[in-house]
Amino acid sequence: MSRLLIIEDEVAIADLEKDYLELSGFTVEIETDGTVGLKRALSEDFDMFILDLMLPGMDGFEICREIREEKNTPILMVSAKKDDIDKIRGLGLGADDYITKPFSPSELVARVKAHLARYERLIGSNMQENDIVEIRGIRIDKTARRVWINGEEKQFTTKEFDLLTFLAENPNHVFTKEELFREIWDMESIGDIATVTVHIKKIREKIELNTNKPQYIETIWGVGYRFKM
Ligand code: CA
Repeated sequence: MSRLLIIEDEVAIADLEKDYLELSGFTVEIETDGTVGLKRALSEDFDMFILDLMLPGMDGFEICREIREEKNTPILMVSAKKDDIDKIRGLGLGADDYITKPFSPSELVARVKAHLARYERLIGSNMQENDIVEIRGIRIDKTARRVWINGEEKQFTTKEFDLLTFLAENPNHVFTKEELFREIWDMESIGDIATVTVHIKKIREKIELNTNKPQYIETIWGVGYRFKM
């Protein structure tokens, strides 16, 4: 559900806007002070801002400018004067739309809906799915290089991460220590297959409940390691 922030010091107008937007299914919050409104706009997750121009604390021009430096969230500016609209345009503050008071609530709702729909399309087209590997309680986000074990995030060094990911992406395949060393460490790197053993031990300490009875990375004696599916 979309969440909107109205920054407006005239309580009657803010309440009217809120009522109509809530009837259309939006979650709406109001701030009457410019400084407080900006602080919330920057620190919380809103889907759209409806911003009055003349406000105590900080005016709508400055709020718009500051939001735009941080976020692409749509901003609808509300003004009592036609002249202000020209000024907003002239300043190039990055507002998405302008509306002059008095306006009909249905016009407001229509504009909000249009901007939200456009913004969602924009977000959708820019959003790339992260590359995720998931096996029995282990979740590896390859794009963000983050790992969660049963929902709890754990920290891995670069090589630990690469080794765990490689094994998890090739489950039920037994790799020798030599193969793993070649795969994860480049040929020039100093070290030997003992490095693999050390890294496996460290990974197990982070992912296994009982490192003596590994449930994920099995030791195949005399051969190497296998990630159990
Ligand atoms: Ca005002």
